[in-house]
Amino acid sequence: MFTPIYIANYCENYCIYCGFNCHNKINRAQLNAEEIEKEMAAIAETGLQEILILTGESRNKSTVEYIGEACKIARKYFKVIGLEIYPVNSDEYAYLHECGADYVTVFQETYNSDKYETLHLAGHKRIFPYRVNAQERAVKGGMRGVGFGALLGLDDFRKDAFATGYHAYLLQRKYPHAEIAFSCPRLRPIINNDRINPMDVHEPQLLQVVCAYRLFMPFASITVSTRECARVRDNLVNIAATKISAGGVSTGIGSHVDDIEDKGDDQFEISDERSVDEVYDALLKNNLQPVMSDYIYV
Ligand code: SF4
Repeated sequence: MFTPIYIANYCENYCIYCGFNCHNKINRAQLNAEEIEKEMAAIAETGLQEILILTGESRNKSTVEYIGEACKIARKYFKVIGLEIYPVNSDEYAYLHECGADYVTVFQETYNSDKYETLHLAGHKRIFPYRVNAQERAVKGGMRGVGFGALLGLDDFRKDAFATGYHAYLLQRKYPHAEIAFSCPRLRPIINNDRINPMDVHEPQLLQVVCAYRLFMPFASITVSTRECARVRDNLVNIAATKISAGGVSTGIGSHVDDIEDKGDDQFEISDERSVDEVYDALLKNNLQPVMSDYIYV
């Protein structure tokens, strides 16, 4: 079990399917060190031991040093720290690893490079190969694990799922020690954008993808986020998924403690707002063992 924390929502990219894109007129915000610490302390109080830090993709606003400081704070409260940030170079991943980060997830969104160009209209993210090689740079920088994901529904979801699996498989062949993870997001409705139809990938199709990942790479971690409703998530963890977020998840900035006003707009709407205890109990009811941390530092 884990929870995401959005510490900033500045973004220099123009991904037409995302509410954080640089042309969307939303409230932008960034937590300072004191606010990050307050939020993390509140999250840790709930019993969670793993956190995923997200920033949006602005190297200028959310510098590598800023993210490193967030990792150092997170290390005081959590045993496992993941990052979902803009792709960086190997030496920067090494620095973030030194600061406490354990794994890095980079969404390729779609592996169809022609379609990719039509969806990513501005910013560094337009450079497809730099993004596709991010996981390898993260492993070279010493990260324990790397995550892969296509945003299902942007293009032919079966081809994208196939490419995601193959990408992870090739990296595993080259770096057998790397821990591999898959995320399986489907498109969600976002602010100011009705150009994308998120309805293409229905629940049976999502199940097909999750099962394909599980069969293809039996030891990979599979995450199902709060984009999905409680019913879908409870069923998926019973079948193939291994990682689930919990704890009043929010994709806004500064939303875990009352005295930090929720400053930034949300990236997308979420469907499962259950607390840590509720998700924990649902796992027990499913005859599963809730695991707060899968790693011990010696
Ligand atoms: S998907 Fe990521 S990079 Fe693209 S606009 Fe949203 S936050 Fe920025």
